[in-house]
Amino acid sequence: MTTVTSMKCACDSCLCVISTDDAVDKDGKFYCSESCANGHTDGKGCSHQGCTCG
Ligand SMILES: [Zn+2]
Ligand SMILES: [Zn+2]
Ligand SMILES: [Zn+2]
Repeated sequence: MTTVTSMKCACDSCLCVISTDDAVDKDGKFYCSESCANGHTDGKGCSHQGCTCG
């Protein structure tokens, strides 16, 4: 049995919804990308279309 749970990226300014399967998890939170997980310290966005986070 596979349960896929969708949730919003834990990055505040990110609007992306990811499934926990694909998410990058860090400190118990789920992020859509490494950039979000790292708090955009690299200055990059999550690279998803229409998302302005980062
Ligand atoms: Zn995003
Ligand atoms: Zn994100
Ligand atoms: Zn982000």
